[in-house]
Amino acid sequence: MWSAARRPWIIYALTCDVLAVALTAADLTGHRISEADLRWFGILLVLGIGQAEMSRRIERVRRWMGGQTHINVTSVWFVAGATLLTPGWNALLSAFLYLHIWARVWRQVRSRPAHRVVVSTALIMLSCFAASYAVRASGLGDLADAPPSTIQGTGVVILGAASFELVNLVLVAIAIYLYTEERSVTDLLGTWADNALELVTLCLGGLVALALVYQPFLVLLVFPPLIMLHRNVLLKQLEVAAATDDKTGLFNAFGWRDLASRELARAQRSHSACGVLMVDLDHFKRVNDTYGHLAGDSVLRAVGELLRAEVRDYDVVGRFGGEEFAVLLPDITEQDSIAIAERIRAAVMKLEVSVEINDHRVATISGLSVSIGVAVCPESGTVVDRLLLAADTALYKAKNDGRNTVVSVGSSV
Ligand code: GH3
Ligand code: MG
Ligand code: MG
Repeated sequence: MWSAARRPWIIYALTCDVLAVALTAADLTGHRISEADLRWFGILLVLGIGQAEMSRRIERVRRWMGGQTHINVTSVWFVAGATLLTPGWNALLSAFLYLHIWARVWRQVRSRPAHRVVVSTALIMLSCFAASYAVRASGLGDLADAPPSTIQGTGVVILGAASFELVNLVLVAIAIYLYTEERSVTDLLGTWADNALELVTLCLGGLVALALVYQPFLVLLVFPPLIMLHRNVLLKQLEVAAATDDKTGLFNAFGWRDLASRELARAQRSHSACGVLMVDLDHFKRVNDTYGHLAGDSVLRAVGELLRAEVRDYDVVGRFGGEEFAVLLPDITEQDSIAIAERIRAAVMKLEVSVEINDHRVATISGLSVSIGVAVCPESGTVVDRLLLAADTALYKAKNDGRNTVVSVGSSV
């Protein structure tokens, strides 16, 4: 943790860890153990472990793929717990279920280091407290005491689920903000699709609570949708991975083509223009030969970040394998495409990349350059392949013209 995380995150993490343990200890020692708490705790623990065991393989693949995951199917049991258990017992339930998943899945996966698991557990425990406190503060009482067919039970479930989710969303967003460089709302709070899936988890949590109180055996009906939901979350992660270049985080050729062809179809419908840039690093082999392949990879990552920073948010940047990048610029003229290409070329010349070479020595790689081929739609073509071919031909000319230069199809004929 000391080496992987920044100081503000460490302070935040330790504060949450201590708070979660202190609140749980205070709550558990402050009340007499009730028979209801023991019963609901035991039932939810068995159900939670059962579900985790059934979807162990799905969870393993999900975590093995890494990346930021905003959805946690296990919340089903804590949402139910918020309406049935006293806060300390619900927090204890979440700690036990997380410990179980850690022992059975996360421990074997490198993308989930121990310090992050501990903090995730603490954040979930604090969210459980928030949900239980909200339910108790509302004066609606326990779900088990609510008369059937009244609004009271519904209120308890909705309040518990909503407060759990809201507090968890905020706590996790702060943790991501402090741990990573991510700053976009989607990175911090998850996409709409993530949140829709999380909402399904909350709904199932509410149904678990209702089933347990009124028809306990019906809780088994929750398992098939829960496992399908878990698979669905994995499917979304696979979709993103299939379109992403894992070295740079940009689109890979497949993802870029997919998005670019949709953008081109849209451009044709609205009779607007598009630009395509093919960007190739000059003499990149020399970087590898001088500093090694790992340093070469760092340069590729830095160039990827530079490209993203130099273009607009809705421009599509991809890595086409090797040291070749493609950029699609919607709604743009040829002159502006060339201007952006020139801006990129100038920025790469100023780029300095610090890399670790042998014996932990750090070297700074500079003096890089790129050659860029520019093609525009509709003049050079209206489908992806024709535009790529045109941009590639212009790139070839740029290389022949001595590299570190921009050549547009329009100006090269
Ligand atoms: P040119 O100016 O003509 O483009 O010269 P170049 O050396 O950049 O081009 P060439 O296509 O001959 O070589 C590309 C090099 O890119 C060869 C390979 O070692 C390197 N390369 C390709 N993919 C990767 C990668 O993923 N990581 C690293 N480090 N190097 C890569
Ligand atoms: Mg090259
Ligand atoms: Mg090349």
